[in-house]
Parts: sequence; C-alpha cells; structure tokens
Amino acid sequence: MDNEENRITTRINAIHQRMRNACAACNRDPATVRLLLATKTVPADKIRIAIQSGSTLTGENKVQEFREKIPALRDLDYERHYIGHLQTNKVKEVLQYVSCIQSVDRMALVQELDKRLLAAGRSLDVLVQVNTSYEPSKFGLEPEAVPGFIQQVAHYDTLNVKGLMTIGLFDADAEKVRPSFLLLKKLQDQLTDLGINRVSMKELSMGVSGDLETAIEEGATIIRVGTAVFGQRIYPDQFYWNENTNSKS
Ligand SMILES: *Cc1c(COP(=O)(O)O)cnc(C)c1O
Repeated sequence: MDNEENRITTRINAIHQRMRNACAACNRDPATVRLLLATKTVPADKIRIAIQSGSTLTGENKVQEFREKIPALRDLDYERHYIGHLQTNKVKEVLQYVSCIQSVDRMALVQELDKRLLAAGRSLDVLVQVNTSYEPSKFGLEPEAVPGFIQQVAHYDTLNVKGLMTIGLFDADAEKVRPSFLLLKKLQDQLTDLGINRVSMKELSMGVSGDLETAIEEGATIIRVGTAVFGQRIYPDQFYWNENTNSKS
C-alpha cells in the first residue's frame, strides 16, 4: 500500500473504532449506525481507496462534484446521498446520481422532485433537513415547521420520508452541539408519535468528525464524516453551508 492508501484506511478504521466505543458507552448496537463519507473537494482516487477499504456510503454537497467523480468510480459498488443545499434547477441531474436526498427543506423542492420522479417513473428516499441551531445562515426548516411540512410531503407518493438530518451548531466543542442533536431526537419522537401514513422516522443523520460520539449518544443512525478521514479542506465550510455564499450552486 502506498502512503495515501495507508493513511485513509487507518483513519477509516479509527472512525469505526470511535463509533464502536460510542455505541458501547450508550448500549447501542453498532450495526444501527452507518458511516457516510462526506467527500466534498476529495478527488475520486481518494474516494476509491475509501470504498475499496470497505466504506459503502458517500455524500456530496454539490451536483457538479458527483458529475465529475462518478465516471471514475463506475466499477465500484457503493451508495450515494446528496447532503448539500439543492437548487431546483439541479434536481433532474442529481436524481441520476443518488438513492437519497438528505437536504429536503422546502415545498418548491418537493414539487420539483415529485415532477422529475414521476417523469422517471421512480421514487426516492429523502430526509428532511432541520435548522436545529436557528442560525439564519443555515439551511433547513425551523424545528417548529417540521411536523406540518412532513405532513405535506407525505402526500407525494414519489417521496419516501425516512427521517431527519441536521448540520447542527458549528462549534469545535461537542457539548455545545449537543442541544442541536437533542432537538432532532425530540422531533423524531414527536413525529413518530404522530404516526403519519407513509412516513418513517427511522433515520437521524447528525454528527461530523468532531462530535460523532455525542451524536451517537443522542440517537444518530447516520454520521457524516469528512475531515477525520480525508484531512482538512481548502475551502471554508461556509462555502458549502451558508446561504449567501453558495446560492449560485
Ligand atoms: C462537510 C460536511 C460534513 C462533514 O464534516 P467534517 O467536519 O469534515 O467531518 C457533514 N455534513 C455535511 C452536510 C457536510 O457538508
């Protein structure tokens, strides 16, 4: 193995160890938590190493990155989710690439997805993105709006709601992020109690490199990890996460 291969494989193993430890600490079955590799800015050859060392799920924030990388990874068997802000004019294309969109956050997007999915004769798994930190710059629905929104989405046969996603407060201190995770968990419980027809609340996508243990403690079923596997990115996360800087994507 060359150095890069070694480094990526070692880091993924370390993440799985952290996941197992976190599960053990709160008596969860490790099989109930999946690792999604957040591969924004990561070139296809590094993603290939990660998949070949056993990773099965990746996520991108920009449709263009899927477009550029997927051809180089065609021979591999892995699952792709969309985890970024999605403009309606990118819906048709992104549907070619993914099995799940984790960032559904407004009715205009729901309607466009429905239209394109009907045309393609298929359905799609989705998560509803919640702005649990109430930061105006972040995407996602305000928590109070989520039950009403999901009740509406449930009317679209093309969309299978599987749960909730949040980015959470952007803070290096995991304890500061915990309230975001607790809020998502509370919403999950509330929606499970509502028992909306066709709506599953199985998945909670939350937790990143720095706070995955906290997220697992609070019920995450999908953690999304980038930096801890692939190293620091050259772009600030604002480029991907904030309203004013990526509105053209
Ligand atoms: C980049 C990104 C992640 C991963 O964050 P890291 O701190 O690099 O682990 C998770 N979720 C989303 C939506 C992201 O854009």
